Amino acid sequence: MTRVAFIGLGNMGSGMAANQVKAGREVVAFDLSADALARAKEQGMKPAASAGEAVKDSDIVITMLPAGQHVRDVYLEAILPNARKDALLIDCSTIDVDSARTVSRDASMQGFRSADAPVSGGTAAATGGTLTFMVGCREQDFPEFEEALKPMAKAIIHAGDSGAGQAAKICNNMLLGISMIATSEAFALAESLGLDAQKFFDISSKASGQCWSMTSYCPWPGPVPAAPSNRDYAGGFAAAMMLKDLKLAQDAAESSGAPTPLGGAAEALYSELVRGGHGQKDFSIILQMLRGTLPLNRE
Ligand code: NAD
Repeated sequence: MTRVAFIGLGNMGSGMAANQVKAGREVVAFDLSADALARAKEQGMKPAASAGEAVKDSDIVITMLPAGQHVRDVYLEAILPNARKDALLIDCSTIDVDSARTVSRDASMQGFRSADAPVSGGTAAATGGTLTFMVGCREQDFPEFEEALKPMAKAIIHAGDSGAGQAAKICNNMLLGISMIATSEAFALAESLGLDAQKFFDISSKASGQCWSMTSYCPWPGPVPAAPSNRDYAGGFAAAMMLKDLKLAQDAAESSGAPTPLGGAAEALYSELVRGGHGQKDFSIILQMLRGTLPLNRE
């Protein structure tokens, strides 16, 4: 039976690991949180006492951690010293490109095959096994990584060599942040001009302004019933997470010398939203900040 070590069982990791169990794999789980480990046990996983113990004898090692520092530490202290040399190492966290490349270089120097494989899709896709994975790894290793990720995925795309998965993720999310602000600005302007929001949606969704932020995730309540705007912006993709990804994009732009003026403006607007106390709301709540209807904590 394929044995999977899964490290980081938070909002995303817990559903992803459960889909590995459903696929008939043995999952050995580790998280710093005792609650997360207890939940993992209920879902049919075997809790481990440490990350090092979890990875021993595993065929696949998956990490789903908050940021680059956590991934670097766990690789250095637990995975590389304890994993089998033929294990596949996959980091699904969203982290900076430099950390992804550092971890991959260290792994490859010790003879491991590794991939950065960040995901698109939130907790619902994690639970439903319908995430999109953007994979950075050597081309010849991709088929095996693809097989390892299948129980958690709707789509698995090889983005290029190590770090390319993270690069694709931050470029995509910078585009998403900018397009959500642009869609929100357009709704706010339409309102100021006395144009009915539904009428604006009906026209723009069939005209050249059409984009995912408008037709799949409309920030104005009403036109897209499943969007978080219809439930007071609860759930969905937290504004604080969007800010994290925009910061990663700006750091990468600075280190690579790429001009991203709108990415910079988007980061500033999401910083204001998060500082104002709305980091846990869905990121489409930026519409209400632009309309001036959102109380902002100004400390
Ligand atoms: P989370 O904070 O809910 O989960 C992270 C988990 O990692 C926590 O349970 C924490 O206890 C655990 N952890 C931290 N350090 C650890 C260590 N050293 N050893 C073991 N466990 C440790 O975060 P999340 O929402 O699950 O996100 C995880 C990653 O996925 C992030 O990089 C995030 O940017 C990315 N992501 C999140 C979403 C989303 O909608 N939540 C969507 C796409 C990508």
